[in-house]
Order: sequence, then C-alpha cells, then structure tokens
Amino acid sequence: MSDEADANRVAGWFGDCYGRQPEGVWQAPGRANLIGEHTDYNQGWVLPFALDRGVLVAAACRHDGMLVIRSRQAPGEPATLPLATVAPGRVTGWAAYPAGVAWALREAGHPVGGASLAIDSTLPQGAGLSSSAALECAVALALTGLYGLDVPRPDLAILARRAENDFVGVPSGIMDQSASLLCQASHALLLDCRSGEGSAVPLEPAAAGLALLIVDTGARHALGDGRYALRRGECDQAAGELGVRCLRDVADAAAADGLADPVLRRRARHVVTENHRVTQAAAMLRAGGLAGAGALLSASHTSLRDDFEVSWPEADTTVDAALEAGALGARMMGGGFGGSVIALVPAAQDAVRAAIGERYARLGWPAPGFLDAPPSASARRLR
Ligand code: ADP
Ligand code: MG
Repeated sequence: MSDEADANRVAGWFGDCYGRQPEGVWQAPGRANLIGEHTDYNQGWVLPFALDRGVLVAAACRHDGMLVIRSRQAPGEPATLPLATVAPGRVTGWAAYPAGVAWALREAGHPVGGASLAIDSTLPQGAGLSSSAALECAVALALTGLYGLDVPRPDLAILARRAENDFVGVPSGIMDQSASLLCQASHALLLDCRSGEGSAVPLEPAAAGLALLIVDTGARHALGDGRYALRRGECDQAAGELGVRCLRDVADAAAADGLADPVLRRRARHVVTENHRVTQAAAMLRAGGLAGAGALLSASHTSLRDDFEVSWPEADTTVDAALEAGALGARMMGGGFGGSVIALVPAAQDAVRAAIGERYARLGWPAPGFLDAPPSASARRLR
C-alpha cells in the first residue's frame, strides 16, 4: 500500500465521480494508542502513534459555493450542500464529518469555499482506529490546501475536534486529531491532554525485533451508548469528592482509597495508575526499553477490565491468547465495549496470530482482523 498507489486510486475515483482531475490528494492516518485509556477527559496523558493506513481525499475547488462529497465507503448519492447554509443539525450521517470540518474552518474565520471531494479509506470504521478523525483531518488539509490557507497543525486539530464535538455531536477528546496531524514516523506522541502539548517519543519496534499488532475483535459498541458518559460522570464525581479539579491532579493512587464508594474508588484508581503507566512507558521508550513496556500494556488491560470495567469478552480472550502465545504485553484499546486490542509481539508473530485465531474459532466467534501497526507519519499532501 504505497502512497503512490493510494493517490492513483483515489484520483481515479475522483475522475469517475466528477469527470475531471483533482487539484490535489491528501491522506490522514488513523491512530493506535499505545497506552493511556480514559485518561484524556481526565486531563491526563496519552501515548498514541499514527498508523500506515488512513483516509484519502482527492479534491478540487468549485465556484458555485457548493460542497459536494462522495465516499467510496458510503455508496449512494453524494452529499450536496450549499456551504453558506451548513450548520450543526443540518447534515446527518457520515457526511456530517467532512461538512463539520468546512463549518468549523469557516466559523474560525478561514475563508474556505466550495469543493468537490472524493473520499476513500484503508482503515476499518468503528474499530477504535479513529477513522472519524482521519476523515476530519484529511478534509481539513484538503480544504486549507485548496484555498491556500496556512493553518498551524495544532489549531487544525482543535478545529477538526470541534467538527466532531459540535457538528457531529460526539463528545470526544483531542487525542485522535492530534495523533493524525502531529505524529512522526517511528515515534509515538506523548500528549498532555490538559495543556495540549505533545512531544515525540521514539517508538521503533522493528529495531528491537518486535512489532505492534492490532487485533480488530469484530465487536462493536452501539453508537450513543450511555456507558461512556457514565464513566465520565463517575470520574468527575470522584474528582469532586477528592477535592481536585480532575483526576489528573491526584498523584498518589493511595489517595483514591479514601473514597467511600467502592465503584468510584476503582474508577479513580484506574485513572491515577494509568497516568503513571503512560509516563513510565514514555520514559522507558526514551531509554530504549520498549520490551519492558509490554508489562505496562498488560497492567493497563487488567486495570481497564477490573477497575474501570470497560473491557469486553473478545478483548479479554484476545489478550489472554496473545500473552500465552508469546506477546510481551497486550491490552484493549479505545473507549471499550468493542473495537480493537493492541499487542506488543515478537517480529515473527505467526504463533500469536494463530493462537488468537484458534481461540476465536473454538468459541464460534467470527475470525478477528489483524493489522500490522508500524508507527507512521502524520497527515500530508500526497500530490
Ligand atoms: P472510529 O473513529 O473508531 O473508526 P467512529 O464511530 O468515531 O469510529 O467513526 C466512524 C464513522 O466515521 C463512520 O460511522 C462514518 O460516519 C465516518 N467515516 C469514517 N470513515 C469514513 C469513510 N471512509 N467514508 C465515510 N464515512 C466515514
Ligand atoms: Mg472516532
């Protein structure tokens, strides 16, 4: 899957849709999160990295003030929207993501005009690999590129997030858009979700004879599921009872033991220990100790399973099978209740894949999807 082949494919699709050549082609990657789950909205730390798969957009300016959007993954009529009337609540379905980006850019005073967009993707959707942010960031680069606007990437990440929060209506944090726009190849991004500041941390599994493997468990959480909001509420309540603004401000996990309610105690313990694990993992990577970080991934999973209670049966089974077959560490990734598992495995990983596949077959589950996850470059113009 070279950039060249990807660009040719999406440019060809643009030609089929609009009967002309695009003016440019952009790609924005999906992301994995090495460690740091449910820490973002507690203003803590996360450690994502960009994948070598993402969303592609071929685009050209239009002079009729219309935004016309097609996606190869969403067959049917294109979304055809007069830009001047695009506002939250007016666009539903998948087209709300790209339309929301145009809206957020214009709201911030960036004069983007009409455009024809053709979208294609090499990322599974809803698997916790952030196809939504990849879509937003690819469209943000395309629209600013078409109109010659130079918006700094951290600002673009905030605008893309605004599209998802205020236009689509999904209350997600800043991690996904930051990862897609700010990561570097062979690095993870240690992101402080309070200040928004990120720093690159070396992450080169291949150089250590290792690999990062993503297993799409096939399980999907229902959209609008209330459990995410419930966890956020529990964290806010725990912070309030501990007398801090948010759980990031609790440095010592023992402080969480002071909470009277056992559920809140467990939730707080997860967030506080997870923040420690993220900073510890980043320090290990900086010292060249990736293999040692495997144990932190597994500890993160145990904490998410037992204290935060957001894991799901396929994830637990995948983690167990991976560790038994020689993985150095593994954990569920994303908000929970469905999506993917990330595992740190030996570069020769056939045994791990086979063990997971066999376990699913024995349980009568559909076969899982496997994805190599080399830490890759951030969003960019391909032509
Ligand atoms: P994730 O970000 O983990 O993949 P989300 O539920 O946040 O899951 O985002 C998935 C949604 O993003 C899809 O339901 C769809 O609306 C939109 N989306 C992502 N990729 C595409 C694409 N290639 N074409 C059209 N819509 C897409
Ligand atoms: Mg998403």
